[in-house]
Amino acid sequence: MSTLKTFSIGGVHPAENKISAGRAIEVLEPPKQAFIPLNQNLGAPAKPLVNKGDEVKVGQLIANGEAFISSNVHSSVSGKVLKIDTITDTSGYKRPAVFITVEGDEWDPSIDRTETIIKDIKLSQKEIIDRIKEMGIVGLGGATFPSHVKLMVPDGKKAEYLLINGVECEPYLTSDHQLMLSKGEEILIGTKILMKGLGVQKAFIGIENNKPDAIRHLSGLAESFEGITIVPLKVKYPQGGEKQLIKAVINREVPSGKLPIEVGAVVHNVGTAFAVYEAIQKNKPLIERVVTLTGKPVSRPSNFMVRIGTPISQLFEKAGGLPENAGKIISGGPMMGKALISLETPVVKGTSGILVMEEKDSARVEIKPCIRCGRCVSVCPMGLEPLLLSQLSKREMWDKAENERIMDCIECGSCHYICPSGRPLLDYIRLGKNKVGQIIRNRGKK
Ligand code: SF4
Ligand code: SF4
Repeated sequence: MSTLKTFSIGGVHPAENKISAGRAIEVLEPPKQAFIPLNQNLGAPAKPLVNKGDEVKVGQLIANGEAFISSNVHSSVSGKVLKIDTITDTSGYKRPAVFITVEGDEWDPSIDRTETIIKDIKLSQKEIIDRIKEMGIVGLGGATFPSHVKLMVPDGKKAEYLLINGVECEPYLTSDHQLMLSKGEEILIGTKILMKGLGVQKAFIGIENNKPDAIRHLSGLAESFEGITIVPLKVKYPQGGEKQLIKAVINREVPSGKLPIEVGAVVHNVGTAFAVYEAIQKNKPLIERVVTLTGKPVSRPSNFMVRIGTPISQLFEKAGGLPENAGKIISGGPMMGKALISLETPVVKGTSGILVMEEKDSARVEIKPCIRCGRCVSVCPMGLEPLLLSQLSKREMWDKAENERIMDCIECGSCHYICPSGRPLLDYIRLGKNKVGQIIRNRGKK
């Protein structure tokens, strides 16, 4: 029996708890009111193109991503613009958003809404990149980096491989798993489109071995897609981290502070490959995505296809209501997710799941003194010293934190998870990363 591939340093094995794994994707009806944030991508916010009182259709461009690293925003509903105001987003910050009162469900007629699968890719490399930009596609694995920018290979670099991330290593989340089962062919066509956009002949789709049905399904389909190989991977967290996936699949190490293109690789998520298929072959902007609503107290854990801008409260209505014993509600998974402070927060392009923790599991554990066990160091997949980094952040020793490679932290939470003393290592490291990141950016401006 061959050994499954994985990354070499660190990693943990949290309980998988994929309780919504068997739930097919259900299409959620449009909300009564949509709150569509202008900044749903890593980078600059988009500039609004609509005003109060304007009528909009599904798929209409409502905000323009003008900066190099930005992304267009389209209306996911039809109706009337109520106002442009702020709303609390999934990170807890107030952000500008277009509020739309929904009337009917009128789509832009240029969008192909049929189920017909279109395999033939007619657009040129440049047209593919331009269309992906126009359609507001961002990385749907959670990073929300504008996808067209990843296809623009910088001078002096060469792309050799496209890696598609179907790992979904976060416990509980199952949206990518269900998408691979129900939209496998579309994902493979999306992969071919991304290969053409990037100018590469080879692509690998990495899937953790706890999804054997998805591995089987995509492997069967891939036989008729030249250059695409499905790679089953060992179940180990954070297998879905970009650098961990690259190490596992093509055995290359991305140097500290560098991007995957440094080693000839570009990584996109399976959800992004599907969105690219719809953008190029169906003329459909990124206006909806699959979201897992899950957690032990949830009566009907589900995977929903949700219009962007739908308040999270509406997902609960469909999944049997907010459980009485709900404690913390998290956007994302238990390892990397962030606690939500309002259920009126809308689903955005980066929302992969909503997790409800029971009250008894949500109470903050008592923080005890560090016992110098070294476990946080041994599990760090980036070879960092989490205890040291958290101490440097706490003491505001930014130069030292930078020298100790704080910016290499991928915020996977493995150190926090393993610590027997319940030290909030990641909280301090995130704080330090924000500060050091600011210092680096300001240095670049001088
Ligand atoms: S959160 Fe950062 S420091 Fe902690 S284990 Fe992950 S990469 Fe290492
Ligand atoms: S895992 Fe926790 S207790 Fe152990 S060395 Fe790291 S911070 Fe200290």
